[in-house]
Amino acid sequence: MIMKAVCCGKDHSIVIEEKQLRPIKPTEVRIKMERCGVCHTDLHVAHGDFGDKTGTTLGHEGVGKVVEVGHDVAEMMGEGALKVGDRASVAWFFRGCGRCDYCVNGDETLCRQVENAGYTVDGAMAEECIAPANYAVKVPDGLDLSEASSITCAGVTTYKAVKNSKVAPGQWIVVFGIGGLGNLAVQWAKNVFGARVIAVDGNQGALDFAKELGADHALNAFDKDLVAQIQDLTGGSKPIGHGLVAGGAHAAIVTATAKAAFNAAVNSVRAGGTVVGVGLPVETMDLSIPRLVLDGIKIVGSLVGTREDLREAFEFAAQGKVKCKTEDRPIADAPKIFEEMHQGKIRGRMVINFDL
Ligand SMILES: [Zn+2]
Ligand SMILES: [Zn+2]
Repeated sequence: MIMKAVCCGKDHSIVIEEKQLRPIKPTEVRIKMERCGVCHTDLHVAHGDFGDKTGTTLGHEGVGKVVEVGHDVAEMMGEGALKVGDRASVAWFFRGCGRCDYCVNGDETLCRQVENAGYTVDGAMAEECIAPANYAVKVPDGLDLSEASSITCAGVTTYKAVKNSKVAPGQWIVVFGIGGLGNLAVQWAKNVFGARVIAVDGNQGALDFAKELGADHALNAFDKDLVAQIQDLTGGSKPIGHGLVAGGAHAAIVTATAKAAFNAAVNSVRAGGTVVGVGLPVETMDLSIPRLVLDGIKIVGSLVGTREDLREAFEFAAQGKVKCKTEDRPIADAPKIFEEMHQGKIRGRMVINFDL
């Protein structure tokens, strides 16, 4: 069958091509896509930032209906096997090898033989997509499809980041950068992990939004005494002996793409605190080694989420614990959406709706 697919064209262009899908393998499913979000990562792939990908179908924020199931799927997966009519997702973590240390010990997104949708394999920004049945996570009924699309990427990424921060109920967490990722981090931290949240951003509109979402405090990133303010809110910034202070958050998540945010995050956590990096500035961070060692600070990188993380995130989203701001657009708009994104004009998340 011939279908439309949004692909990397020549010279970093975005083209809508007619493609013919190959027959599925016995362990795969064919999904008729209903939604696929457009992400900054797609823009990087299209621009060749990770190598030339001309001809590859983009997209890793896909949800759709299973229309064909390979004949080994039922036996391979048992009770949870995907069936025709189920809703399933196609995420950036498309498949791991399933055998290595990372895959077996709960870190499958770090698998050295990982496949990524819309990058190393054809992705979900197409009318149909073939996926390995045991990696396409089921989407629960009752979850809005465009929201489900956002959970597949921004949602699970921020859910996993809060999980990696190890913040406990009642503890303090600072979220640096309240954009498409940060606003979700605030909601997970507050509504699922029961943490107390301080939002930090340089934009007043973003700070107001964070308060609306339930952040306990919202602070301007450009305030000179930002770190002291965070310490005061979380136990005190006055030295209490040997120059040490009592305050500081238990954890910080950095979704901002400014190096300054990473440095502020390290200074805003208390002894034993954890800083989780999600944003990707192409710089190095300053890190005081005495601060790291004497205060036992943990610095953690967090990359998307495993299938289990995605299942959990879907479940919480279906319960209404987070809301994603999305805007549906028809597939014909795809080249325009990428252009708008390149020009920095996009607010919220654009989702291609294949029913429009
Ligand atoms: Zn994405
Ligand atoms: Zn592996």
